[in-house]
Amino acid sequence: MVIPKIGFLFDVDGTLTYYRGNDSIVDLLIINDLEAIRKRKHPIGLITGRSVNWVRQIFFEHINQSLKEYIQIFGEFGLVVWHNGKKRKGRINSDTRKALTEIKKKIIDRICFDRDLETIVSYEAPQKRALWIEPKEIMLTFRTMPTFGLTIDVYQALIEPIIADYSDLLRLESNPYAADILPINANKKKGAETAIKKLDPEKKVKKWYAFGDSTSDRKMEEAKGSTVDFYLIPRGDTSKAHYIIQNLLIGRE
Ligand SMILES: [Mg+2]
Repeated sequence: MVIPKIGFLFDVDGTLTYYRGNDSIVDLLIINDLEAIRKRKHPIGLITGRSVNWVRQIFFEHINQSLKEYIQIFGEFGLVVWHNGKKRKGRINSDTRKALTEIKKKIIDRICFDRDLETIVSYEAPQKRALWIEPKEIMLTFRTMPTFGLTIDVYQALIEPIIADYSDLLRLESNPYAADILPINANKKKGAETAIKKLDPEKKVKKWYAFGDSTSDRKMEEAKGSTVDFYLIPRGDTSKAHYIIQNLLIGRE
């Protein structure tokens, strides 16, 4: 049977990784699946809130050179793209850039003042109680530290009144692991559209399969001009993604 050309779009955290505490752990079984997709020459795009740098430094630690070169990254919800070995930052207008700078300062001041915390900017979880900021190029990510009482509920309560003043420019997206602040138009639908344009400029792909573990990932199926089937993976249940990929590769939906 000839399998028509298909393409794959993946959220990263909780879809290709599982969680231990607030640490996202790469599942090697899934890495094998990505390798199987590469061997069949189906395109692969990561549509993630993570930065391009995080994916390349941390996630890519576990994969071989050919896969590293094959997988294209649509980081920060597609705002920063890693394609064919080059990084490109999307343009955001000066009002949005200014709003991001202002809100970052306001949130840090607020959380650090209320909770008497210092700020730590790192990919790795601080070993002490602190305001943990994950490095990003455009968006802002405040990581939760539930063992120190810094849960997503606490962040939401602090951030929502501040972001209300910027609601025409910025939005807050939360999950148990992080509060993300991003330009209002950046989302997984836009990320998927950017990815599909780059990965399949000649429109040879008949159908795209998108995988994600949260409802915001489902927006990938709304990508304009393409057929995208979305699979919701129970957060961190990488064996489910593995099973679906195996089936898709033999032409079973
Ligand atoms: Mg996820």
